[in-house]
Amino acid sequence: MERRLPTDTDDGLLLIISGPSGVGKTTITRGVERSLPDSVFSVSATTRAKTDADVEGVDYHFVTDDEFERMKGAAEFLETAGVYGKKYGTPMAWVVEQLKRGRLVILEIDVQGALQVKAKMPDAFAIFVLPPTENELLSRLRERKRESEEQIQKRYAAATREIAQARESGVYDVFLVNANLDDAIQRAVAQVQEERARRRGRAS
Ligand code: 5GP
Repeated sequence: MERRLPTDTDDGLLLIISGPSGVGKTTITRGVERSLPDSVFSVSATTRAKTDADVEGVDYHFVTDDEFERMKGAAEFLETAGVYGKKYGTPMAWVVEQLKRGRLVILEIDVQGALQVKAKMPDAFAIFVLPPTENELLSRLRERKRESEEQIQKRYAAATREIAQARESGVYDVFLVNANLDDAIQRAVAQVQEERARRRGRAS
């Protein structure tokens, strides 16, 4: 029999958080992680270059294209996606292990990935973060001062496409408007707690 840890529960939940870039999704994800003590963040593998803001093993596992393809060939990913010409993937074994331990496992992934996860694990609970308005998103992308105006326009066009795709996909349980970060984090946490309570109610 598998050894259970004292912190193990039967309450495991896979939480997907998606949203266009600039919407505050990473801050919301990390806020949910801090608010719920049994939650863990799934660290994706990516072939994109590490920036100064990234910490290896915390934000991503930065891997070469060869290593990514090896992992893919060995069926080590729960899902993979190509974003802006770079590859991203969720390592599966770790996710499954954490779910068995009863944790809330958070995947911050895009719509392509969310579709694959829901196909394999229909019990996943998915939240899509929306900007209050599309214009507001454009202003936020500009405020980050990370990219040139041309890149900002590309990200903005990709973001509006991603929002449309998310709505059409049928994958998302909740669309969460981020007008204020603290409030959005609180509402995301409340949604997760309600969902867990609903499932507990169903199981008993
Ligand atoms: P960034 O490079 O800005 O950190 O992330 C770019 C996009 O890729 C974001 O929308 C992010 O949510 C998504 N992403 C990050 N990791 C994964 C992953 O493992 N799978 C998928 N499908 N998307 C990911």
